Amino acid sequence: MAVSVVAALSAACSHAPRCDRLLAGGQVHTPAGVQRLEVAVEAGRIVALVSPGDAGAWRRAAAEVVDVSGAHLYPGFTESHGHLAGHGASIEQVDLRDVPTFAEVVERVKRAAAKVPPDRWVLGWGWDQNRWPEKAFPSHAALSAAVPDHPVLLRRVDGHAVLTNARGLAAAGITAATKDPPGGRILRDASGSPTGVLVDTAANLLDRAVPAPTAMDIERRVLLACNDLAAFGITEFQDAGTGRDELAVLRKLEGEGRLPLRVYVMLDGGDDQLLDGEFAAGARVGVDGMLAVRAVKLFADGALGSRGAWLAQPYTDEPETRGLEVTPEARLEDVIRRAAKAGFQPCVHAIGDAAVTRVLDLYERELGPGGAALRPRIEHAQVVRPADVPRFATLGVIAAVEPTHCTSDMPWAPARLGPERIAWAYRWRSLLDAHARLCLGSDVPVESPDPRLGLWAAVTRRTPQGTPSEGWNLAEALTSAEAVAGYTSWAAYAAFEENWRGTLVPGNAADLTILDRDVEVGGAAEILQAKILRTVVAGRDVFVARSGT
Ligand SMILES: [Zn+2]
Repeated sequence: MAVSVVAALSAACSHAPRCDRLLAGGQVHTPAGVQRLEVAVEAGRIVALVSPGDAGAWRRAAAEVVDVSGAHLYPGFTESHGHLAGHGASIEQVDLRDVPTFAEVVERVKRAAAKVPPDRWVLGWGWDQNRWPEKAFPSHAALSAAVPDHPVLLRRVDGHAVLTNARGLAAAGITAATKDPPGGRILRDASGSPTGVLVDTAANLLDRAVPAPTAMDIERRVLLACNDLAAFGITEFQDAGTGRDELAVLRKLEGEGRLPLRVYVMLDGGDDQLLDGEFAAGARVGVDGMLAVRAVKLFADGALGSRGAWLAQPYTDEPETRGLEVTPEARLEDVIRRAAKAGFQPCVHAIGDAAVTRVLDLYERELGPGGAALRPRIEHAQVVRPADVPRFATLGVIAAVEPTHCTSDMPWAPARLGPERIAWAYRWRSLLDAHARLCLGSDVPVESPDPRLGLWAAVTRRTPQGTPSEGWNLAEALTSAEAVAGYTSWAAYAAFEENWRGTLVPGNAADLTILDRDVEVGGAAEILQAKILRTVVAGRDVFVARSGT
């Protein structure tokens, strides 16, 4: 008996040196197509993909055999643009998404305030006046009457405006005499008094009055977010604007081996002290690839919903404004130049057509002929003038897009942009046909991080409820294979990772998202039905669905 075990082990060893885990019985989505293969994992990597008939030695060598019979194994999904600590904070805050009226916002905040001692801030997020019957920004009177003893900060769904009450305005020292800061607006009533809505940089006036989260708060939120994301099949999170306190927490978690997901950091481009330190240290990717610090996030403009996106021509539904240049051109130029010199990837938020043109111009001018090697990114790239479409490929600029922004914005975006410019919006097919590279994400917590919703929106240009039935400007949709690539191999390219993750081939990281079905060939209807069975990062399970769910 003992002899035969030794013989079996040594036979296994000669063909299958070592194997921590064998994922057996699944359909594996490889670059060569979908194949029935066993996935052998050792020390966080895929060491072999073996056809079931040849897997005997691996099966015997494996410390653990995981039965994934019938499941579909995809490269681990990557969230290409989101806000990690912000997502964690949003899980903890008053959730105002899908609230149909301002009165209901007031009611929910009142209920939350009742559980918080007086004078402590009540934080909330996710409101969207476009969902309310009046479709106009609210005024704080009803909120101030219902919540008189707590300062309140309610962030709009796009993060580009906040709503506060009288206590909040007082805490921030905002009065009728306060001037609009550059790049921001304090909305006012007919008498000039603040309405409680603060747009873009004006929101900073209020943010500054809220006590900063402690390192413990941030760590709790990061881990809360990671656990939530793992249940959606996310294996890597590209964090669009990591602050210095968040970075310190991420480094601590990485050092302690407690970071559940890979995090690709885009440093907060507004913090010079942070940038100076990181640029001097140089781009760094952790030995096991769990934490990468090699990118910088900047803002060229605001968002379309709050009319902060910077347009070349006025808003169709508010002709007195063209939106906001959130960061002066000289500042963008300076940070892009310093980032390039330090070998960091610039990632600039640009939503309006004027902002996109400016960022492309800056990349062309500041990065020069070799600039494509830095893989510069434009985050969102929502409204792109026809003349700018081919420039993405020419300059090697990656468009980091969020499919669910399209389907969330489609009810009101035509009014903002008018009939000509609406054809320039969310134009993924135009960009791909012009050989641009894309990567896909959600901008969580702006949208749900569920990649099934992103895949569905990318492929159908419809809401999850199926409207409009013909798809909104369907000519700009992606195929399901392209959409999956946007969450896997393309997202890996956008983070310089395509040589070691993003595809299922031997040698690559064992990052897998395991679904109960094929979301590529089954037709779009299969996407929303798909169940996430297991999420694997570096060979370890970070999520396993309970059986029967
Ligand atoms: Zn964002």
